[in-house]
Amino acid sequence: MEKKQFQAESKRLLEMMVHSIYSQKEIFLRELISKASDAIDKIYYKALTDDSISFNKDDYYIRIQPNKDNRTLTIKDTGIGMTQEELEENLGTIAKSGSLAFKKEVEMQDGQEIIGQFGVGFYSSFMVADKVTVYTRALHNEEGYKWESDGQDGYTIEPYNKEDVGTEIVIHVKENAEEENYDEFLDEFGLKSLIKKYSDFIRYPIKMDVTEKQPKGDDDDELVDVTEEQTINSMVPIWRKNKQELQDKDYQSFYQEKHFGFDKPLSHLHVSVDGMVRFQSILYIPEQLPFNYYSQDFEKGLELYSNGVLIMEKCADLLPDYFSFVRGIVDSEDLSLNISREILQQDRQVKLIAKNIEKKISNHLKSLLKNDREKYEKFFDSFGRQLKYGVYSDFGANKDKLQDLLLFYSSSEKKLVSLKEYVERMPEDQEHIYYATGESHDRIEKLPQTEMVKDKGYEILYFTDEVDEFAIKMLLNYDDKEFKSVSSGDLNLEDEESKKEAEKQKEEHKDLLSDMKEILGDKVKDVKLSTRLKSHPVCLSAEGDVSIEMEKVLRQMPD
Ligand code: ADP
Repeated sequence: MEKKQFQAESKRLLEMMVHSIYSQKEIFLRELISKASDAIDKIYYKALTDDSISFNKDDYYIRIQPNKDNRTLTIKDTGIGMTQEELEENLGTIAKSGSLAFKKEVEMQDGQEIIGQFGVGFYSSFMVADKVTVYTRALHNEEGYKWESDGQDGYTIEPYNKEDVGTEIVIHVKENAEEENYDEFLDEFGLKSLIKKYSDFIRYPIKMDVTEKQPKGDDDDELVDVTEEQTINSMVPIWRKNKQELQDKDYQSFYQEKHFGFDKPLSHLHVSVDGMVRFQSILYIPEQLPFNYYSQDFEKGLELYSNGVLIMEKCADLLPDYFSFVRGIVDSEDLSLNISREILQQDRQVKLIAKNIEKKISNHLKSLLKNDREKYEKFFDSFGRQLKYGVYSDFGANKDKLQDLLLFYSSSEKKLVSLKEYVERMPEDQEHIYYATGESHDRIEKLPQTEMVKDKGYEILYFTDEVDEFAIKMLLNYDDKEFKSVSSGDLNLEDEESKKEAEKQKEEHKDLLSDMKEILGDKVKDVKLSTRLKSHPVCLSAEGDVSIEMEKVLRQMPD
């Protein structure tokens, strides 16, 4: 039998698994159960939409079977199974986005910690196994296959006569070593509590033979061991549960089970809508920026279910781009199972759900800003830029929805402030909202142009992000107050007397100014006498709508 080598990337990941020192090795079970559940989702969906497949709800289950004598733990599912090619592709390489994302994350950070927190699907079984055997038969396939590996020297695949469609994974549990005890994974009680802890919300029954002491007969005091098959999980999907029954940790473990991120969610909202359209949804705001968030690889979207059946893993139509960081699931009884990707975009129900979700997220963020400033600032630090792009894109169509979610650093408060807070603080004689653009707060602080505005006692918003000024140009004004750059030519902050004095000086130094203009030539458009400077001799200022900073950005853009 031919032995095949793992792809280089897989090898490295496996090495980390095999030598993992992480204490929470137990999460491998959650990973395998979750994959089993995904596989059942797929066949369940097919059975509901394809008349040629017979459908019986009792056929869909996961079975956990420990065997202490052989030191094996078997996880069987009645899911869609894998063909030979799929076995190679799925278990021999890291091709899927989940694992790939993990790998990149591991390279960026110190790996060990994250393995334990999140696992990476199938490979995490090598944290507890010295050998893993997979028996599988795909739907519509006569033949089955056996895949086996010790996680080090590659793997083998051979035909195997498997009676039913689905997958059976046999974990050959490691021997106990000095400080490592693996017996928990062979013990009914230990397994039962792990299933309860991590996989209670899985929608298919997780069955296990459990041996318990029971009275021998009705009126008999003698207890005997009775082995019975039990369903260990409650099976109610978390989004169908009542909010009151759930705790933060339940939402957190669902987030991790779903691999929504490598972090803990910063905040979640659980929505149940019963109006023009009915749906339940759990939405998360991640704490950390996904490593590929601002790249083209990033795919937005929510998991979409039709009455408990998964129909799409990433439904992009449910989220506007400016909320693309939101992860989560939506389940609606008003959606047809047969809905195709193309129709989805046009679907009235989907549009209604999307609109509703957008509103919920927006309100949630607003209330976070109001009630938990620290959390909101953490959020804004990661995703604020996306909101500013949102203001800027689509020709400002969404600016009204987003403007109250923006924060900028303030010259007087020395922290992030909202536009509303700025306007509320404005002295009576202040007409505009002032901003200054630069590379850093420090740099802006030193700009000659800020002096006069500050002297008037006016607050200045500091723009350090390239998109800031573009977004503001789209907003134009807030609460009827126009935005004005401290560098713009017509600040008009002088009183009458100094205006007169300036005119006089301009006349007196006419020749000097025109000489300077001549010497500088094309480098400047004009040389003017300025009234806004105090401790600095000169400053550059822009005329018209495009500031010097914006010009820099525009010049860097590809044509
Ligand atoms: P990921 O999906 O995050 O890459 P895995 O490495 O666990 O994680 O799985 C790789 C792929 O193998 C899965 O996406 C799935 O297609 C397949 N797979 C894993 N377990 C099963 C299973 N029990 N039944 C069918 N397919 C499975």
